[in-house]
Amino acid sequence: MSEPWDARAPCDLCSLPVGVKPFTLVTPERTLMFCCEGCKGIYQMLHQIKESTDGIADN
Ligand SMILES: [Zn+2]
Repeated sequence: MSEPWDARAPCDLCSLPVGVKPFTLVTPERTLMFCCEGCKGIYQMLHQIKESTDGIADN
């Protein structure tokens, strides 16, 4: 069995291994991977990224 990503790839925020179930964030440039939802959320906040794929629309 092999995952489509490297489980030892570093989290884009804290550099810990993302593991077998990474939290992904798709941006126009590339797909980012995080070790946990917290890291993903913080990264989104820092970079003002809005996830386009499963949009939570709040007006
Ligand atoms: Zn992390």
